[in-house]
Amino acid sequence: MATNKANPYTYFGMTVSVCPTCRKTLPASMLEKDNKVYMSKTCPEHGRFKSLIASDAAWYHAAQTKTSPSLMLKKHNTETVHGCPQDCGACPEHEQNNSVPIIEITNVCNLDCPICFADNHHDYYMSDEEMERCLDILEASGTDVDILVLTGGEPTAHPRLIELIEMAYRRRFIPRVAVATNAIMIAKKEEMARRLAEVHAYVMFQLDSRDPEKNKVLRGAEMIEYRERALSHLEKHKVQTNILMTVIAGLNDDEIGSLFQYSLEKPFICGFEVQTMAYTGSGGRKMPCRPSSMSPERTGRARPAHFSAPRSRHPGAACTCSPARTSAIQ
Ligand code: SF4
Repeated sequence: MATNKANPYTYFGMTVSVCPTCRKTLPASMLEKDNKVYMSKTCPEHGRFKSLIASDAAWYHAAQTKTSPSLMLKKHNTETVHGCPQDCGACPEHEQNNSVPIIEITNVCNLDCPICFADNHHDYYMSDEEMERCLDILEASGTDVDILVLTGGEPTAHPRLIELIEMAYRRRFIPRVAVATNAIMIAKKEEMARRLAEVHAYVMFQLDSRDPEKNKVLRGAEMIEYRERALSHLEKHKVQTNILMTVIAGLNDDEIGSLFQYSLEKPFICGFEVQTMAYTGSGGRKMPCRPSSMSPERTGRARPAHFSAPRSRHPGAACTCSPARTSAIQ
């Protein structure tokens, strides 16, 4: 008698996803094979899609156990009609508040990073009125903001960046405002660092590597001189700076330890975040995927278990992680 053929994938759950072509909501299976996690879904019109979700299944399952309680918003901007994610805006089914809201204030950028997921058309600067509207919506939602992040494009390209920061700080519910930047403008104009210090802005500083060749892969430019100069301007003006490192396993993961150590040694650096490469968006989806996970041979004392999704995010939202036990990787 013929035996049943074994499926090489182990099924462990269902979720809801969308068709990457038509955006229709679809049921999706969660699968595991060779310590990797995949999502599989079938669109009646566009066929079957299987995507790599995590290159380290053990880490993925451990992350799922770190949940945080739901904190519902006080006011929603859309109705629940078709379900998540079609009603996003956020709808009444949204289970979490927004502790790190991100506002894109421009789509202009002075870099063209091969990994960029933004679709920069270089034709938009947010007006004061639009900013006030965003802040009104956030305030009405009763969200518990840790830090508001202004991003882009490149936010320092916005001619009214400082005024927008001041506008945000006038709202009492916003304790901190950060600017997520590639820092080219701060390198070129020390004045920018001085003004950011004056308005008590925080800087989320793009620092992925100290190797010009690796920076070319990630950013399309060597970046070394810009970053050194920008860091010295921020240090001089004591701007609270958070290092944001985008990591591609097998490319720059061997620098996590040294960049973290550098961050610890500089009093003006108040945080260190690792953002794993997102193979999505305008640039990211064209990058060849390197589905490897952190290996001790490359990352020294830094291990996957030292990183976890920040508080009040979905446990699976692990694309941005902070070292949970900093002493462990010093
Ligand atoms: S990743 Fe950031 S710095 Fe690079 S092109 Fe995109 S918006 Fe500009």
